Amino acid sequence: MELTHEQAKRWLLNFHQKVTDNKAYLSELDQAIGDGDHGSNMARGTEAVKDKLGSVTEDSLEAVLKQAAMALISKVGGASGPLYGSAFMAMAKTAKETSELSTLIEAGLDGIKHRGKADVGDKTMIDMWQPVTSALHEDDLTEVTIDQALEDVKPLKAKKGRASYVGERSMGALDPGAVSSGYLFTALIEEVLA
Ligand code: ADP
Ligand code: MG
Ligand code: MG
Repeated sequence: MELTHEQAKRWLLNFHQKVTDNKAYLSELDQAIGDGDHGSNMARGTEAVKDKLGSVTEDSLEAVLKQAAMALISKVGGASGPLYGSAFMAMAKTAKETSELSTLIEAGLDGIKHRGKADVGDKTMIDMWQPVTSALHEDDLTEVTIDQALEDVKPLKAKKGRASYVGERSMGALDPGAVSSGYLFTALIEEVLA
């Protein structure tokens, strides 16, 4: 399945809406195992993405993804900004070669892994991106994939980021970045796959 630049814009606007609607919840999740700012970080970042998208005049997927990356990197102070930024920057680079959706998302996943030096099972957003990438390769991304990933991330012990400081106490909690990435992919399902 090919991703168009119009779809990418709608996807990002939908993501902004979900993050904004759930800002307090995302910060509450981060309060439990981090520093309580994930909702405000992501709301600020996705607001900047929305603003940037308004000024993208070039009708290309690469331009949309690159503007999103730059907005996230420049407006989010926390760890999540550079991580989401690296994902979108990697997707933008890949978009020069292909607009195939699963290839783009896999490039995003690799960008996050490379930037954050984390992997599957470390209780981060990677634990959402990885199963979503696999499902896309199977042509079977649904809400069930996202719900299952959230269930699977709960029991893990955080090994990267601020949540790793609380050690065992992170077990049983949701990872805020996995939840915000879940919104990103729910938005993708709604705007692109539905
Ligand atoms: P900060 O931790 O700087 O306050 P945020 O609260 O905005 O930043 O983001 C925290 C989220 O970032 C975590 O829930 C986790 O999903 C993600 N994260 C943190 N470190 C890493 C990493 N090294 N690799 C991948 N994701 C990470
Ligand atoms: Mg935080
Ligand atoms: Mg912080």
